[in-house]
Amino acid sequence: MQAPPARLATHGRARIAGPFLEPAVPATILRLALPSPLRRLFDYAVPADLQHIAWQPGMRLRVPFGRREIIGILVEVSQHSEVPADKLKPALALLDAQSPLPPALFKLCLWTAQYYQHSLGDTLSWALPVLLRQGEPAEARQERFWQIAAGAQLDDPRLARAPRQREALQTLAQHPHGVPHRLLSQLQLNKDSLDLLLEKALVTCEARRHPLPARHLNWLAQPELPLNPEQQSAVSAIQSAGGHFNAFLLAGVTGSGKTEVYLQLIHQTLAAGKQALVLIPEINLGPQTLARFEQRFNARIALLHSNVNDRERLDAWLAARDGEADIIIGTRSALFTPMLKPGLIIIDEEHDASYKQQEGLRYHARDLALVRARQENIPIVLGSATPSLESLHNAHAGRYALLKLTQRAGGAQPPRFLRLDIKSLPLDSGISGPLQQAIKQTLAAGQQVLVFLNRRGFAPTLLCHDCGWISQCPRCDARMTVHQRSGELRCHHCSYSERSPRNCPDCGKVDLRPLGAGTERAEERLEILFPDTPVLRIDRDSTTRKGAMDQLLTTIHHGEPCILVGTQMLAKGHHFPRVTLVAILDADGGLFSADFRASERMAQLIVQVAGRAGRAEEAGRVIIQTHLADHPLLVQLTEQGYFAFAEQALSERRSTGLPPFSHLALLRAEAHKPGQAEEFLDQACSEAEHLLAELALHGVELLGPIPAPMERRAGRYRAQLLLQANARAPLHRLLAALLAALERMPSGRAVRWSLDVDPIDLF
Ligand code: ADP
Ligand code: ZN
Ligand code: ZN
Repeated sequence: MQAPPARLATHGRARIAGPFLEPAVPATILRLALPSPLRRLFDYAVPADLQHIAWQPGMRLRVPFGRREIIGILVEVSQHSEVPADKLKPALALLDAQSPLPPALFKLCLWTAQYYQHSLGDTLSWALPVLLRQGEPAEARQERFWQIAAGAQLDDPRLARAPRQREALQTLAQHPHGVPHRLLSQLQLNKDSLDLLLEKALVTCEARRHPLPARHLNWLAQPELPLNPEQQSAVSAIQSAGGHFNAFLLAGVTGSGKTEVYLQLIHQTLAAGKQALVLIPEINLGPQTLARFEQRFNARIALLHSNVNDRERLDAWLAARDGEADIIIGTRSALFTPMLKPGLIIIDEEHDASYKQQEGLRYHARDLALVRARQENIPIVLGSATPSLESLHNAHAGRYALLKLTQRAGGAQPPRFLRLDIKSLPLDSGISGPLQQAIKQTLAAGQQVLVFLNRRGFAPTLLCHDCGWISQCPRCDARMTVHQRSGELRCHHCSYSERSPRNCPDCGKVDLRPLGAGTERAEERLEILFPDTPVLRIDRDSTTRKGAMDQLLTTIHHGEPCILVGTQMLAKGHHFPRVTLVAILDADGGLFSADFRASERMAQLIVQVAGRAGRAEEAGRVIIQTHLADHPLLVQLTEQGYFAFAEQALSERRSTGLPPFSHLALLRAEAHKPGQAEEFLDQACSEAEHLLAELALHGVELLGPIPAPMERRAGRYRAQLLLQANARAPLHRLLAALLAALERMPSGRAVRWSLDVDPIDLF
């Protein structure tokens, strides 16, 4: 993403500079953002009892909408409305005395809605905690506290014959700040006794917020590691930004101590009285990562990820907003957490695809984090061992300062790579003879092996050897995966599954064969090949049960020889000191794919998985099975490293005019009837051509419409129109005009359509 447009247009003339909207004459029209896909504001009249309110953008109001009542967010007030006065309905109720959204967050949401060409109301729905959208008071949960009353005597004569009440009073006397209601039973306090004490006015019971732990003079709960020279110069460079906006790309090889750099930067931020926001990919938010932050600091950490319930999310959001959380750690949507005193933003593993939301509001949290850092004028650090080509390009262009960590911290050696040419070698469930030998040697040396295969299940297809039937998903243009453990065929593209047949559904014969290998199959085979060694499978199927992942990690950290088989869940963030051999069963997919980002993703995965090898004393090696052992990208990656690969890949992108050397937007449509989506996109395309001429815009190409690479998914037929531009401004001007036209187009109602600005997946 490049520099954001200087000004915000659209969505009316939202006045967001000051906290108050003070029209010269009392406001008559409230313009609200509603949770609707329509890219417009909705007008309501001010009800009689709210004539003298000092309106603030962000205040929530309950309003009638069709036959329902919904909650809207005030964007602006106005004297005029396009809606005739007799049609204008009054708002029903005001929910907030003060806007719960700080102006900075409101501004970020406005920017987001405009950039992604998305309705402001729906943008706010994605950005705000669910409970706020549902009208819950924007206040932290209150809890009842029991406390001994001032002046109460433990030997009060009224308790002479009430030993239990006396005991309860004694217990409360030991907790002068009060006891929260939920801890009563833990302290053996009986509610009835407390009620009786309350009647005698010997105790008090009041609702209040959790007492805040005092801000610490010493933020460190654990000493910091002395930094090596590369780490030190990275920290100094970021420090020299003086707390102002500056973007840094911290490109550090796996195990180079990026996390230590983050921790020391956060320490400085806390010491300056400010808050730090840390974004982490979903998959990395394991207990290991969190423990490092929690162990290091005496700080209040707010957590925002998918396992946090709605109430906890609102509490964390409020704590961050009110400056009562010092560090905010979360996944993608935590980007929208307001901060009272923002000081630093860190995006860990900035290349990770999970930062891009693939539904509804299709935002990229890394890109928005940059916008936010600029708006709030604070430094931002993007960290990765395998930076995205976009970020490297931004660094080359001078928009980010590039900070490199080239050595592993703590003295571990980088792993050695071997490209194992498997052309014409027999494969046993995807495992070649030389690889089996290498696994055997490693286990014999008492070490651990990691086998990586980015495909869940037993086999990607079931085939009838007699008639050629294959396990096609009835709802998608895709094959169903064989899941042997559960005896099912499952489609990984929709939710469809069925029992795995014993006989061919077409010819009735029994010679059904699984084709290809997934993690289940590799696991089964490795168990047979190495009967004395535990084989641990780690993928989405084996870790759904709560605690399953922890259990697997405990076994691995025990350090006994074992074989780990898994998908990309194994690739990231983990520290496995005893793993010295990493085997990548199939690197070819990323070199063949039609998706222009596939090779970048494959390279990132290989380097990340390889980074699990030899992180401690023993050196690691990485064996890559491939049919394309001489492929230039693979050679470059394994012999000269990720950055050499990235330069090569960037020069290919430049010569083909692909991102980051151009900008894309993808208009997708899907419908139940074949042809319907394409028909809509055809009209969209004509409309776009017309607008390009009318607005005199140049340098935007319309590619398509074409059927989506997987045309049918979950029973719908899909098509897409790609818009490619060499500059952002004309593309965004076109999109704004085009979407307004599409919203009016009748054929748009028969299809589901959406726009993806900066798509990372063209499927
Ligand atoms: P990354 O985040 O780059 O993958 P980590 O921060 O996890 O790297 O560091 C890898 C290992 O090196 C960890 O065990 C960490 O404690 C250790 N480490 C990091 N910095 C130093 C340092 N300056 N001195 C000694 N050990 C360090
Ligand atoms: Zn058959
Ligand atoms: Zn399907």
